[in-house]
Amino acid sequence: SKHFPLRAGLLRRVTGRVTGHLKAVDGVSLEIAAGETFGLVGESGCGKSTLGRTTLRLLEPTSGRIVLDGEDISRIQAAALKPRRRLMQMIFQDPYASLNPRRTIEQILLEPLQVHRIGSAIQRRQRVQELLELVGLGSNALQRYPHEFSGGQRQRIGIARALAPRPSFVVADEAVSALDVSVQSQVLNLLSDLQMEMGVAMLFISHDLAVVQHIAHTVGVMYMGQLVEKARSDDLFNAPRHPYTQALINAIPIPVPGRPKIKLRVHGEVPSALKPPAGCAFHPRCPKAMAVCKTQKPVTLNVAENHTVSCHLYDES
Ligand code: SF4
Repeated sequence: SKHFPLRAGLLRRVTGRVTGHLKAVDGVSLEIAAGETFGLVGESGCGKSTLGRTTLRLLEPTSGRIVLDGEDISRIQAAALKPRRRLMQMIFQDPYASLNPRRTIEQILLEPLQVHRIGSAIQRRQRVQELLELVGLGSNALQRYPHEFSGGQRQRIGIARALAPRPSFVVADEAVSALDVSVQSQVLNLLSDLQMEMGVAMLFISHDLAVVQHIAHTVGVMYMGQLVEKARSDDLFNAPRHPYTQALINAIPIPVPGRPKIKLRVHGEVPSALKPPAGCAFHPRCPKAMAVCKTQKPVTLNVAENHTVSCHLYDES
């Protein structure tokens, strides 16, 4: 969980009285195996990015545990966390903003290796060349600057930088959203191939369910800070249970042959996270809402193997 305190008063950021909490992520549990991708989807502001940053400890969790390679890293101090940072990397949405425009590609790719003191100077240079080959850019890219590359190429450099220190876990936050559709699938394929080849566990965050379907082994659907449905990718796309998931799949513009068409749409905006609705947070927009949904929060149930859902339409039986 990650809750942000809400403060009142003139100097509220510093000294203001805490008047409540914004529950950006509330009781979300997930597990990602080595070499697998967990796709996290949901509308803007649902807490996906906060969850991603919290798993990397770029934000401190309010409660809960983060276990990396069998070790609980949730509470370890900054000095002890530093060597473990090598194992946790991030791929950003905007490859241009995340690459220093004044540094050459070689300097950019050397940096994580230098920071984490990986290998000798010669080994680092070899690793940088190897990485450029891996992401489909030759060594002639070494002395060039980020502005000399296209968006897709810059994202390849961003991927190379994240994989440089051989991480165990990578968070890719809207990693292809800023790219043209024609380039998206090339970068997705590259990311997927490299991630499986290197045995990296990846949390792939996107608002686009079609993109997540392309890359994820398991998919989690978030709504207002909670995971409302989680299943293996095929199960989720072939038999979605939660009305919100059904509506998201319904909104994918490309028809998939053989997939049953679910005629379900949601209306209205996501309510303010400062004043979440009582009961099921989705009830003001849910076309299947019942009286119980307005007062009682649904519990998370197993509806099939590796398939959980939080919705009053389902019960233990
Ligand atoms: Fe809809 Fe009720 Fe299920 Fe929430 S609990 S998704 S309101 S049917």
